Amino acid sequence: AEMARLVASRVLDVPDFPKPGVVFKDLMPLFADGGAFREVIDGIVAYHGRDSFDAVAGIEARGFVVAAGIAYATGVGVVPIRKAGKLPRPSYAASYELEYGEATLEVHQDAFTAGHRVLVVDDVLATGGTAGATLDLVERAGGTVAGFSVLLELGFLGGRDRLASRPVHALLTV
Ligand code: 5GP
Repeated sequence: AEMARLVASRVLDVPDFPKPGVVFKDLMPLFADGGAFREVIDGIVAYHGRDSFDAVAGIEARGFVVAAGIAYATGVGVVPIRKAGKLPRPSYAASYELEYGEATLEVHQDAFTAGHRVLVVDDVLATGGTAGATLDLVERAGGTVAGFSVLLELGFLGGRDRLASRPVHALLTV
């Protein structure tokens, strides 16, 4: 509840971004507040337990910020899940549907040591397409999903249902 209040106090609603009718949740004020950022990173680590994962994967681009914080705080390594065409070496790709068209995410084929427990993080869970593709990629690359955390879940978009059997941890759900 304390974490939820902290996130709620550092998120800005931006109407009509990136297109008319969408209210974008901007978490930059949370990232910009050093004390708040540290608290949410520590909150995610405490929720899962610092010995429950061997690596942390962040989803481009704001997920990188969260993942790097967790990696530094716990001493594990960080793996980027990238948008198509950015990774330099052989990669696995997973595509998912957007409202119009589709998007593709990629991970290096050798990103994880076999059996490593991977904590996956992002800033926001919306429809769940991004997270679903990412969790599949982590497993294809040989990792075991240890957990999935976001700072903010847009509950009304049903992302949690789309992730079905996967446990979702959100510091704040709206
Ligand atoms: P989904 O695939 O769940 O619909 O969308 C989640 C992805 O889009 C995440 O990577 C997240 O960063 C981004 N996203 C979607 N909506 C928002 C939003 O309102 N605010 C922010 N900060 N990111 C969003």
